[in-house]
Amino acid sequence: MGKASDWLREERRKILGDWAAVCLRCGYAQRYFDDSEGELPAVCPDCGGEIRSRCPSCAARFSSVFAVECEACGAALRPAELHGVQIRKPPRA
Ligand SMILES: [Zn+2]
Ligand SMILES: [Zn+2]
Repeated sequence: MGKASDWLREERRKILGDWAAVCLRCGYAQRYFDDSEGELPAVCPDCGGEIRSRCPSCAARFSSVFAVECEACGAALRPAELHGVQIRKPPRA
């Protein structure tokens, strides 16, 4: 691994953001920076579900959009089987 790849990885991290937020309903994920946390959508732009950007138990942030449990306290950040189980859509009225 040379310097160029380190630089690239750092650049990518900067573009994507240090932290991750995920939709609890559909799995939509978004990355953000410390100073852009306030710009996170309150609800998912895809499905209107709740966006979670912090551990519900200890309020720690998480850095991976694939995280399913808190790195700090081990609490579940979201259902781990979001894509493993059938998600039933509400019937259209
Ligand atoms: Zn969603
Ligand atoms: Zn936690």
